[in-house]
Amino acid sequence: MTANYQKHLVYIALGSNLGNRLLNLQNAIQAVESKAVLITTSSIYVTPPWGVLDQPNFLNQIILVETELYPLELLRFLKKVEIESGRVETIRYGPRIIDLDILFYDDLILEMPILTIPHPQILNRAFVLFPLAEIAPDLPHPVIGRSMKQLLENWESEHSPSGIKLYCDAD
Ligand code: AMP
Repeated sequence: MTANYQKHLVYIALGSNLGNRLLNLQNAIQAVESKAVLITTSSIYVTPPWGVLDQPNFLNQIILVETELYPLELLRFLKKVEIESGRVETIRYGPRIIDLDILFYDDLILEMPILTIPHPQILNRAFVLFPLAEIAPDLPHPVIGRSMKQLLENWESEHSPSGIKLYCDAD
């Protein structure tokens, strides 16, 4: 008898603001590919720091992958990738070599002490909404029902300009 593993579509947010940020993103994607098939990558965005302002700009990117890992297995795996990339725990919202967050996992809604899906900060963070609206403009948020394009428009109508721009080699 063969096991019948289900495949799940997962959006993962990557962020880095220490060391060689571009290489950190590339290495993290390569590591994720050991347990998932890469379907789409967004452009890379340069983002002013959030929460703790006195730190370098972030590079942010979102990837869509297909994986057989269950949500908690995926979280554990992503934490392992973060640690193996050299991430050390500092202050909350502080500088980091790599940050990996699960944004959406199919249309799953999950609330656990260690894992909330969809990621609770999606609505507040322009650096997540910009790349999501780029690669999945029509994707509905499973709780709110509005698309990524609508959520970004909503964010922009309620905030001053984000300061986010597309990354180019000069950044
Ligand atoms: P971070 O500082 O972004 O690495 O996340 C800190 C903690 O948030 C992690 O150790 C997770 O237990 C928790 N967490 C809750 N929901 C999520 C999610 N959707 N993706 C990633 N981490 C999450």
